[in-house]
Amino acid sequence: MDATPDRRFDPLSSVRNQADGGFDLILAGTVFQDIIFTGLPHAPEPGTEIWSEGMGSCPGGVANQAIAAARLGLKTGLAAAFGDDGYGDYNWKILAGQEHVDLSLSRRVAGWHSPVTVSLSVDHDRSLVTHGHPAPVTASELIGQPPPAIAGIAELGLEIEPWAKAAHQAGVKLFGDVGWDPSGEWAPVRLENLQYFHAFLPNQREAMAFTGKDNPWSALYALADRVPVAVVTLGAQGAMAVDSETGEEEWVPSLPVTAFDPTGAGDCFDAAFIMGSLAGWPLGNRLRFANLCASLAVQEVGGSLAAPGWGDIADWWK
Ligand code: ADP
Repeated sequence: MDATPDRRFDPLSSVRNQADGGFDLILAGTVFQDIIFTGLPHAPEPGTEIWSEGMGSCPGGVANQAIAAARLGLKTGLAAAFGDDGYGDYNWKILAGQEHVDLSLSRRVAGWHSPVTVSLSVDHDRSLVTHGHPAPVTASELIGQPPPAIAGIAELGLEIEPWAKAAHQAGVKLFGDVGWDPSGEWAPVRLENLQYFHAFLPNQREAMAFTGKDNPWSALYALADRVPVAVVTLGAQGAMAVDSETGEEEWVPSLPVTAFDPTGAGDCFDAAFIMGSLAGWPLGNRLRFANLCASLAVQEVGGSLAAPGWGDIADWWK
C-alpha cells in the first residue's frame, strides 16, 4: 500500500490550525513487533511442523493505528515505548522514516525487550501468541499539545490511565480501543476509564466481554450509555455505531472482499473513523469510510503496512 501522504486529499485542511504546528492526532501505547504467518493448512499441533503460504513482519500494537493515520495524511504523533533491541531499531526506523510518524514523544526503554506477537492465520481465522508486557507511557509531555490534538489510544488499560485522565481534563478528545484480553481481568479498570473518552471502538467480542451482554447490539447500547460515541466492529459483517450527541445510529455491512490477513483491521478502521470525526463527517460517512479502509487493508498480508493511503482509496471513495 501507499505510504506517502497525498496532500491532494486532505479533508482536514479546513479544520486544522496550520499555524500551531501541532498534531492532528496523538497516539499513546506500546509498539509490538508483529510476525504474521498466513495461509496455514491447519492450526499447529504439538510435536509437528507446518509451513505457511505467506509471512510478514511489521510494527504492531499502537503502531498499527499510527501508520494507518499517517497514511491518511493526519499529522500523527506517537507517544510510545520502544524496545532496546533489534525490533525496537527496526520499528523506530519504519515509523519515523518510511511512514512519516513523529516520534518526538516516544522513547527507547533501556534494557527492555520489545513485546512480540506472532499471528497464525488459518482460513481467515487467526490465533495470536504474545510475549512481553506493555511499557508505561510517560504522560507529562503530552499534556498541553495545542488543539486540535486528539488522542487515539490502543490499550485502554492501566498503562494509559493517568494520561487519559489528564488529557481529558485538558480538553483533548479521546478515542479508545482495546487489546485482546482473554482473561478479562482488566475489564473493570478499562470500563472505569471510559469516562474520559469521546469514542470507544472495540470489536464485537471485546464489546460483549466488557459489557457482559450476549450479543453485539446490546453491547453497543450498553457502551453508548457510557461514552458519547460507541462503535462496535463486526469483522466480516461490517460495523455499527451510536452517536449520542447527534442522535445518529448506523450500521454498515462490510465489503465483499477476500480477507487474506485481518491483522490490524480494527486499528486501520479506528484511524479512518478518527479522521472522519476530525473532519466533522456525519456518522454514516465515518463508518463507511472506516469500513472501506479496513476492507482494503485485509486484502493484503502485512498488518500495519497493509493500511491504505489516499492513492489506494481515491478510486473507491467518491
Ligand atoms: P479487530 O481487527 O479489532 O478484531 P474486526 O475483526 O471487527 O476488528 O474488524 C474491523 C473492521 O475490519 C471491520 O469492521 C471491517 O470493516 C473490516 N474487516 C474485518 N474483517 C473483514 C473481512 N473478512 N472482510 C471485509 N472487511 C473486514
